[in-house]
Amino acid sequence: MADCKKALRQHLIQSGLGPAEPWSIRIAEPDDHFHDECGVVAIYGHPEAANHAYLALHALQHRGQESAGIVTSDGERLHSHKGMGLVQQIFERDVLDQLPGYAAIGHTRYSTSGQSATLNAQPFFVECNKGQLAVAHNGNLTNAIELRRELEMAGSIFQATSDTEVVLHLMARSRETTLRHALRESLLRLEGAFSLVLLARDRLIVARDQRGFRPLCYGTMESRLGTAHVFASETCAFDLIGAKYVNDVEPGEMITVTADGIARERFAPALPPSHCVFEHVYFSRPDSIVFGKSVEHSRERMGEILATESPVEADCVIPVPDSGVSAALGYARKSGLPYRPGLIRNHYVGRTFIEPKQSIRSFGVKLKLNPVRRLIENQRVILVDDSLVRGTTSRKIVSLMREFGAREVHLRISCPPTISPCYYGVDTPDRTELIASNHSIEDVRQYTGADSLAYLSLDGLRSATGAREQEFCYACYTGDYPTDLVGIEQLVNGRRNVDRS
Ligand code: AMP
Repeated sequence: MADCKKALRQHLIQSGLGPAEPWSIRIAEPDDHFHDECGVVAIYGHPEAANHAYLALHALQHRGQESAGIVTSDGERLHSHKGMGLVQQIFERDVLDQLPGYAAIGHTRYSTSGQSATLNAQPFFVECNKGQLAVAHNGNLTNAIELRRELEMAGSIFQATSDTEVVLHLMARSRETTLRHALRESLLRLEGAFSLVLLARDRLIVARDQRGFRPLCYGTMESRLGTAHVFASETCAFDLIGAKYVNDVEPGEMITVTADGIARERFAPALPPSHCVFEHVYFSRPDSIVFGKSVEHSRERMGEILATESPVEADCVIPVPDSGVSAALGYARKSGLPYRPGLIRNHYVGRTFIEPKQSIRSFGVKLKLNPVRRLIENQRVILVDDSLVRGTTSRKIVSLMREFGAREVHLRISCPPTISPCYYGVDTPDRTELIASNHSIEDVRQYTGADSLAYLSLDGLRSATGAREQEFCYACYTGDYPTDLVGIEQLVNGRRNVDRS
């Protein structure tokens, strides 16, 4: 490991990204920045801001289960609490009671683990020359490492490895005198994906990158203080707290909410939109409206189109729960085959479990999914899942279906083959691990052990989401990235070189 770090430092120095004296400081590592899938929430003008942020985070739990945090403002000062684990575990009644105020921001984070995990829990909260500030964001800044290096060279001391901290340092260094202007100046330095919420003593500011990679919805709700303004990654958070969805924060838009009301402005012109299509494929909840469209509707359409594109003779359609359910419904409807809930998911599987000493066949996958023998035995089944990344899940499930008596297993994936990593906030492995990146569909079929395998076409995906000509980012399916990635690819390649050495 020490050798790897040394080699990586060397690579950074040679590529002009590293410091001249590498041993003197800790350098940011690429892995630190590639695995943020998160949910954000913000509320202003509600006497129970913390409680509502808590409930909203609960609704966004699927976007991240590693850590969560809430920061509130009572108008005088900010109050913060964050921790590792699920929202419900972190925020007990007495903790919420210690977060007074009428404004709050919250965050729930998924990331690869590591010792830096606690430090990286968001929102980040600092006291700087701009006063007390708390920031949380969903997305991934593709120039975070360059910015961080620049800031470190200028004397900034970072506490964690998350991109979000970069924003705070940029703001602290800004010579602008108002918070709005300092944030605007900082946002203009960022590249990549961000849906960001910032809380100060007397105001809430939210912003979304110029291409709108990640979602950020705006809604309102009534309270005894009047109209409260609410922002969240997905509208399912609004449903839980009784807020009404109004519209999305526009790409390139910055919204400031104070006691005087709400002010919407652009911090930069919107660029051609690159909404993450994977939000509709897998990541968002089906009961959400994301990018102004129903996720459930998109997924059912994906299934219907998949059935038209890749029919097969079979007896029933079985979803891989939960994310394959809507597409399987669509597939079943279009194909005229019965929909059968032939796999049951255990929702209480934690991150670690005690493995049996003596091996049990397919133990790992059975912890999560168990087939209903009566629905599967002797059947020719069509198994519908939302995506196939490394292929390990499909391989295990196909084998499980056979173990429980399926006569034939036909695998249908409701998105195109995933061939490229995401640099905008979705946790995908690099190309070497993406099975479709370096194998034919027939190879993948053989690997999974299915009798047949078909993916939804790119055109099918476009049509399922009702996409306009330029609306979504499909980079994970095409390798065609909408932003410059020079710095980030250098680092990834650097890491690969290191890994091999
Ligand atoms: P794999 O076993 O690597 O092929 O992963 C595919 C399975 O993981 C599918 O069942 C998906 O529902 C799920 N999945 C796909 N992408 C992600 C992601 N970014 N994070 C977590 N799970 C995912």
